[in-house]
Amino acid sequence: MSRIRLTGVSKRFGRVKAIRSVELTVDEGEFCCFVGPSGCGKSTLLRLIAGLEDLSAGEIRINDRRVDHLPPAARGVAMVFQSYALYPHMTVYQNMAFGLQQARLGRAAIRERIDATAKMLQIETLLERLPKQLSGGQRQRVAIGRAIVRQPGVFLFDEPLSNLDAALRQQTRIELARLHQRLGATMIYVTHDQTEAMTLADKIVVLRDGSVEQVGRPMTLYHHPANRFVAGFIGSPPMNFLTARVASAIPGRVECRLAAGEILHAGVNADRLAADSAVTLGVRPEHVAIGGPDPQADLIMRVALCERLGDHSLVLLTHPGGDTELTAKVGPGEEPPAGRPVGVRLSAEHCHLFDETGLALPRQASTDDAERAG
Ligand code: ATP
Repeated sequence: MSRIRLTGVSKRFGRVKAIRSVELTVDEGEFCCFVGPSGCGKSTLLRLIAGLEDLSAGEIRINDRRVDHLPPAARGVAMVFQSYALYPHMTVYQNMAFGLQQARLGRAAIRERIDATAKMLQIETLLERLPKQLSGGQRQRVAIGRAIVRQPGVFLFDEPLSNLDAALRQQTRIELARLHQRLGATMIYVTHDQTEAMTLADKIVVLRDGSVEQVGRPMTLYHHPANRFVAGFIGSPPMNFLTARVASAIPGRVECRLAAGEILHAGVNADRLAADSAVTLGVRPEHVAIGGPDPQADLIMRVALCERLGDHSLVLLTHPGGDTELTAKVGPGEEPPAGRPVGVRLSAEHCHLFDETGLALPRQASTDDAERAG
């Protein structure tokens, strides 16, 4: 098990600043996911740790040993790529043995490691096949196996499941989570899929344009996003955003006015905001409660569309007066018919508020925090 520490890590490709002064610690045995949109620098950051790219500035330490000047093979890391990167002319066994032979391990020891790993990954019957004789899922398991036999302190995964279909991706995701429990190794996993990150990670690093936007446990990011970008990126379907202005504020509660004049409340502290400041109110679909078009409701909206997904449904609501849209998550059988006006209630406890720069205003402790602690 290894601990990884990045200090002031930057990477330029010519004029492109791919990574901007990243500070990060991945603790021993942690499963850490790098997420963010395409081009934000996830793969570059992973490749810098692997030693496949040189740093432009900063340092990388693994177990307190500075490694950024070392070649990949001397860092104690093993990388698994999206493209599998198996040698096409070698059998599964030979693919798994290759790195160990390079490291001059004896034949018997190689056989022992490969047999144990093949059993763990249920690929024992595939050892004599060539990669082209395997399915995508089997190839990815071989690629993972090739990393495991090297017994690295750190596993680096670059979108390892993106070539698999949805069902296989979910199954392999569960296998990876089990593997992590079993090996207890430090793992860094790059994905653009926030669901994958939420389900696998102990720690998520959200990247945007080469910089770290937030680092934290999945549920911390979900309930306490540091800014609007993280709020919109973590969670599926994404958080709803409404444009508003501050009407009044007392400690722990802000009154906001939407363009059409309705008043909503957010349980946040907004001491630093002047009255009439532009803000964005955020609320997750599961916290949008819909009912009859009751005059006490916060908003009266119309049902535009309903997506039935089995155990829940997503209801798209539009505001008759303007461009405001909200998605509500409701239980099966609770979907109102399309076209019907509904009353919408948004409890202040579940509303987030972001200032003009996108920074989140501090929220009051809520029941979500108790869930998170549990
Ligand atoms: P994706 O999810 O699409 O794989 P990513 O978040 O992994 O994206 P990177 O591949 O790390 O993003 O790229 C980060 C930035 O660095 C991008 O702007 C990319 O175009 C640029 N970049 C990456 N590799 C090189 C390179 N070898 N030469 C020039 N620019 C590069």
